[in-house]
Amino acid sequence: MEQVSGKIGDFHVSVRKRARYVNEDLCTGCGSCAEKCPTMAVDVFNAGLGRRKAIYKYFPQGIPSVFTIDAPECRQLGQGKKCGICAKVCQAGAIDYGQKDSIVHLEVGAIILATGYEVFDPSVIPEYAYDRIANVVTALEFERLLSASGPTAGHLDRPSDLELEKEIEEIRKEAKKLDRQIRQLEEKHGRSSASVIEQVAGGADKELRDWAAQAEKLLTMEKSLAELEKRKAAAQPARKLAFIQCVGSRDFRYNRFCSSYCCMHSVKEAMIAFEHDNDVRSTIFCMDLRAVGRGFEEYKLRGGSQAGITYLRGRVAEINEDEARNPVVWYESTTSRQVIHETFDMVILATACIPSSSASKVAELFEVELDENGFFKTDPLAPLNTSRQGIFTCGCAQGPMDIPESVAQASSAAARAAEVVSPARRSA
Ligand SMILES: Cc1cc2nc3c(=O)[nH]c(=O)nc-3n(C[C@H](O)[C@H](O)[C@H](O)COP(=O)(O)OP(=O)(O)OC[C@H]3O[C@@H](n4cnc5c(N)ncnc54)[C@H](O)[C@@H]3O)c2cc1C
Ligand code: SF4
Ligand code: SF4
Repeated sequence: MEQVSGKIGDFHVSVRKRARYVNEDLCTGCGSCAEKCPTMAVDVFNAGLGRRKAIYKYFPQGIPSVFTIDAPECRQLGQGKKCGICAKVCQAGAIDYGQKDSIVHLEVGAIILATGYEVFDPSVIPEYAYDRIANVVTALEFERLLSASGPTAGHLDRPSDLELEKEIEEIRKEAKKLDRQIRQLEEKHGRSSASVIEQVAGGADKELRDWAAQAEKLLTMEKSLAELEKRKAAAQPARKLAFIQCVGSRDFRYNRFCSSYCCMHSVKEAMIAFEHDNDVRSTIFCMDLRAVGRGFEEYKLRGGSQAGITYLRGRVAEINEDEARNPVVWYESTTSRQVIHETFDMVILATACIPSSSASKVAELFEVELDENGFFKTDPLAPLNTSRQGIFTCGCAQGPMDIPESVAQASSAAARAAEVVSPARRSA
């Protein structure tokens, strides 16, 4: 949104439509461009756990099913290099490197702010070591790991093992390059690298010394590759899981409020992990498990009796890591009154639901108020009304809530907006 003016029943809104460098009327969503694109970029939708091409679809079920070029990552658009492969392979002629942002002007009677939420960054909580221990992940990252369309196709591979794979791939690539250079030297001089290493030991010129250093570096790389491959072969999927609730919620240091949906998504994630592999055992650490909703308590109990979930009352004090990169969870059991530590394969943090980072900018633009937590302020007696007439809000933009509640609110907001615009429509 660039500009908003007017009043209830007669708003004028300017929206910036960003260039996607693909003509959406022509693109069929066939994916040939992404198949051939040579550039890899971090996959934001998969919480940075996977990689995608520079021409991409944000997520598989996105509507419209149209591709977009990530301009800063694209060789042609962002890096000043020659490429143009996607334009060559696109049979629909949909690629348009010259496309520009455009401004769309809308005349509307009512507005609904549905900008949702963001997840709290747990790296600010030092005791959970999220930024130091690879196998401590957020619930959103875990959700992507569990997903069949996610970076591991739904297998519970540990992030430390994914890091290992990446390390192997990088060393292998570098070793291949070095091997090629050494072979060229061997061919050129008609002698083996081993003989050069031997000669250098007794003193030699710079070219031979460099050659010997390269050959020795390759040997070291091959040794560490063998070691890493051995570790990769021994890697096991995560089976012992710890879920930690209220991470950044109900915590006076960060947010006092309850994020409302995280108790249930932790039970859900533990259930899905168990369905995927019946050897999975999960412990959910919570102050209390808030299963508020029809059938939610029964779902929670079913998790305990049929899906290997243990509910443990206790706030985790610290997480550290053992030599096998397993997270070790330290907590006080409030039932046995003992400080206990237990080793898990992975720890999943149920992070708080916080206001979208654009909320204050949106509030300023639309001249609506925010509440004390930074969500759009609503009228307690008309919960979809913002502080400005004709502007409504729904879903997590006004506070934490789950999908069914967000959808119900969205329907209500649409009905409230229709109330505003329908008299104008009737007279038109
Ligand atoms: C790990 C995890 C698992 C969950 N699992 C479940 C579950 O199983 N069941 C359940 O009921 N709930 C679940 N939830 C909660 C669920 O995600 C929310 O209830 C739901 O997404 C809220 O919908 P929303 O449309 O209000 O907000 P959002 O889903 O956040 O959508 C808001 C949209 O607005 C866009 N936006 C934001 N700012 C702007 C702007 N300035 N301009 C244009 N667009 C903007 C955002 O990009 C986003 O696409 C889960 C949450 C998490 C974190
Ligand atoms: S841009 Fe072209 S090649 Fe890429 S998905 Fe669309 S139609 Fe297919
Ligand atoms: S829903 Fe559960 S985990 Fe989330 S903040 Fe509330 S009590 Fe904590």
